[in-house]
Amino acid sequence: MIIEDRDKFAPYLEARREKLLALMEKEDVPALVVTHLPNVRYLSGFSGTAGTLLAMDGQFYFFTDFRYMSQAREQVSPLPIIESKDLNADLARTLSSGKAPTLHFEADHLAWSKAEEMKSSFKDAALKPSKGLVERLRLIKDEAEVEALQAIVDMQARVFPHALRLIRPGAKERDIAVELEHLLRQEGAEGPAFDFIVASGWRGAMPHGVASEKTLSAGELVTVDWGAKAWGYHSDNTRTMALGKVDKELEEIYRITLEANQAALDSIRPGVSVKAVDAVARDIITKAGYGPNFGHGTGHGVGLAIHERPPVSWREDIPVETGMVFTVEPGIYIPGKGGVRIEDMALATPEGARVLSQSIPKHFISI
Ligand code: ZN
Ligand code: ZN
Repeated sequence: MIIEDRDKFAPYLEARREKLLALMEKEDVPALVVTHLPNVRYLSGFSGTAGTLLAMDGQFYFFTDFRYMSQAREQVSPLPIIESKDLNADLARTLSSGKAPTLHFEADHLAWSKAEEMKSSFKDAALKPSKGLVERLRLIKDEAEVEALQAIVDMQARVFPHALRLIRPGAKERDIAVELEHLLRQEGAEGPAFDFIVASGWRGAMPHGVASEKTLSAGELVTVDWGAKAWGYHSDNTRTMALGKVDKELEEIYRITLEANQAALDSIRPGVSVKAVDAVARDIITKAGYGPNFGHGTGHGVGLAIHERPPVSWREDIPVETGMVFTVEPGIYIPGKGGVRIEDMALATPEGARVLSQSIPKHFISI
């Protein structure tokens, strides 16, 4: 694994920093302070909980406190590491040694109060908000990231056969969620990517019904939305299974959702708008008469955040690019009765989508 091998990983981190410097130049950002931890990790490899990056004059500086000094030397070198007791004062000092008159900060992440504090520490430099610079780079996954994401999805694929054994009448939704989390950790996950959704029967009609005390019954559909976290990255997958024989309509909405999922995946290629990918799934569901029962977007980017760019929705007109990783997760929800969602993670390649979750079966499974 590139991400686990310091020497192999270093050139990827270097390339990301080079890209950020080029983007800063293009966007007329002379200096940027990166405070959002996933962005700090993306650029430096630092996995701790206290770290700040300053990019200025073509150079990066890493600030942390004494607790993380040895970890930083391990993960962040060759960047200069500054042990900081007063971050704003140390940032101001470093800034005054350079020539940047304006420091940009991550407006989407830094609290207003923190920005105000920063401002009062900088006598010589102005402070200006900036939006989504590092996120723009994170949109396109590099080889190290794709490898990590595939490895995390593979953990889920290995657990899936056990998941099928847990899902049976009489089992409690919450117990299934707890056990899945445990199994993923045994496969190497650092933890769950989010609070798992295990929604059976009528609860399946709630797109985000987290696992409850409800027990599963024969004749129900069960939707399991789960994912693992490792190296800071996330996976996200949903499968819906039937417990024994289910109502004809439930089987029918499964068939329609699967068709929508597959057609949307097949439509992915560079240059196609995410809006068009959403439309492929939505049109199939709408034509089948269930348009109003599919109220959410078709998918979302996934990486260092569980939900990141690009959103795959009718509201967005973002062209698909090689290296994007996003979910395709159409669903049909019938209040009082049940629901289906089928979610895969796809990597956009010049040849179309490579489905990272290919090995997690998605044909209609009746347990
Ligand atoms: Zn999900
Ligand atoms: Zn998702």
